[in-house]
Amino acid sequence: MFQGGTKNLHEENSQWYFKPKNVDVLILSHAHIDHSGRIPKLVNDGFAGDIYCTHATRSLCAIMLLDSAKIQERDAEYYNKRQLKKKKRKRKALREPLYISSDIPKTMSNFIGCSYERWIRINNNVEICFKDAGHILGSASVNLRINENGKNKTIGFTGDIGRPDRPILRDPKPMFPADYVISESTYGDKEHESGPQQSEKFLEIIKETCLNKKGKLIIPAFSVGRTQEIVYMLDKMESAGILPKIPVYVDSPLSVNATTVFGSHPECYDNELNEYLLIDDNPFGFNDLNYIRSVDGSKALNASKEPAIIISSSGMMNAGRIQHHMYNNIENPNNTFLIVGYCSPDTPGGMLRNGVEAIKVFGEWKIVKAEIKIMDSFSAHGDRKEMYQFLKNQESSAKKVFLVHGEQDTQMKFKSYLQDKGFQNIFIPALGETIEL
Ligand SMILES: [Zn+2]
Repeated sequence: MFQGGTKNLHEENSQWYFKPKNVDVLILSHAHIDHSGRIPKLVNDGFAGDIYCTHATRSLCAIMLLDSAKIQERDAEYYNKRQLKKKKRKRKALREPLYISSDIPKTMSNFIGCSYERWIRINNNVEICFKDAGHILGSASVNLRINENGKNKTIGFTGDIGRPDRPILRDPKPMFPADYVISESTYGDKEHESGPQQSEKFLEIIKETCLNKKGKLIIPAFSVGRTQEIVYMLDKMESAGILPKIPVYVDSPLSVNATTVFGSHPECYDNELNEYLLIDDNPFGFNDLNYIRSVDGSKALNASKEPAIIISSSGMMNAGRIQHHMYNNIENPNNTFLIVGYCSPDTPGGMLRNGVEAIKVFGEWKIVKAEIKIMDSFSAHGDRKEMYQFLKNQESSAKKVFLVHGEQDTQMKFKSYLQDKGFQNIFIPALGETIEL
């Protein structure tokens, strides 16, 4: 699913470059909505095959696609209302949502959950194997063995490549050496700053805001992944007896549901978390932690003057309940907004990152008096070094490497980076291009 960066978002998301009914099987690397968001539309438009992914990806898709359907419904309603207010000749055609909530059960019935590292035969000629990509819960690379007219071919698709030494998740595991490699390239021109003492810095910000200034610490965070990492970090501080006694709130229905899914997929945890489970059976819950689903509960937070930590979505602050927290708290110098992830520059999160002095929320200008802090060490995407580490065992086997999932300019830079490391035959396919192997 396209999510911004293009003007014709609705048109881009409405069309296919192939006929859905001609597709036999869908293989899904992970649940992030840019990878999974159009599956219900694919099914509505005629795709009737099986959808293979890991168990955790299937569980996450069940809640994320439902959430996405609600957003599609709301967006279409809002767009149509605006069109109907215009004079008839200025009006554009009204829109149907890409799909609606009631489409999700049918879509989910096509899913087949698989374990990591098992070869699974999906038809007479094709076998797949998922390997842990260390990107989000359930994320995987896709390894394919294909027999065609008696000849064997192997293909490796990276999905999104994660990073080593992340909380909760295992490190990314390299794919099996393949004849053809399809690799993502999101951060193909970047190297992340290393983030040591992440939790020390976090604790310092908590003490400064909530104890010294008696303010609220507000953390905009993506519902799936980032929220659970932060909660787990707080949970460990609580177990160690170093977390000050302040109420913590996770305020977003999707975040609450996603945390339940995280809790029910221990097969995805790294060793550290598995050992932690021996001393704490709930790594995503402690006494001062409150999960809020209801709108009334969320509103009550706005009225409260007590110091608190509030984790809410969206991460870029351009949708969801975080906007209300911004509206109510950004003008108080005792509060801190802690930004823990990438935000595109045109979103409120991006503007705060860039140090704007005033910001428009719900059509009203607000002076930015709260403190803005940034912690960048949470990224779920490998940088170019980490991607190279993931790919380097492919160098001698790969006849061709295709770069996808990145800005054109970044892909060009990643291509020459990989060439310098010895890779040959790297291609950057155009959108909609067909290539025969
Ligand atoms: Zn992803």
